[in-house]
Amino acid sequence: MGDSPLDLVLLGPVGAGKGTQARRIATRYGVPHIASGDLLRAHRARDTELGREAKSYMDRGALVPDHLVINMILDRMRQPDAQHGVLLDGFPRTLAQAQALDTELEREKRHLRMALYLEVPVDTLVERAAGRWTCRVCQATYNYQVNPPRREGMCDLDGGELYQREDDRRDVVSERIKVYIQDTVPVVEYYRDRGILREIDGTRDIDGVEADIERQLEALV
Ligand code: AMP
Repeated sequence: MGDSPLDLVLLGPVGAGKGTQARRIATRYGVPHIASGDLLRAHRARDTELGREAKSYMDRGALVPDHLVINMILDRMRQPDAQHGVLLDGFPRTLAQAQALDTELEREKRHLRMALYLEVPVDTLVERAAGRWTCRVCQATYNYQVNPPRREGMCDLDGGELYQREDDRRDVVSERIKVYIQDTVPVVEYYRDRGILREIDGTRDIDGVEADIERQLEALV
């Protein structure tokens, strides 16, 4: 992978399969999987001030204000395990976040190596998110059609209870998709203009998508 840290971003709308793929890539390449949504949910579970502030935005499918999310992610990126690279999932979601990330990486003489974009047509996203079950402990996700857990209601990885996220309800998912088109599609274009965007067909099965991502990442070796 060369000497420079493997800093990667995984982009895609809700239900595109980002979390599932991110866990696989992070394990394979030995970089931490940093998911802004997972971190925010952990703050809520711990009832921190940030968790309490984020709640109303998350429950209605809106974005949590930039400064809160940026501080949270940059703090996480300064931890020792993030010094050899990171896989960011769900961040950046706005141009301001993308610019803050660039500034931070530059400060550390790092740069984003690739932005992987999981593309899935909008009409299949609502179905996917609505059928999603999440582990209360590690936040791994399952879907009873395409990616069922080995034992019903229980996470394969740690036996945690599976639950359906409040914001995976159809009406909230529709709002999240609207927000994605308005705020995050410009981030996709930002990375396309920079020449580091790689588009992946997210409609394939999980192993197929993973193989496509692998092929793209091999180019960085
Ligand atoms: P996710 O698990 O990535 O779907 O995120 C769940 C919710 O957390 C989103 O609908 C937002 O309310 C909030 N969130 C996660 N990441 C961000 C971000 N980068 N910027 C703003 N809000 C975020």
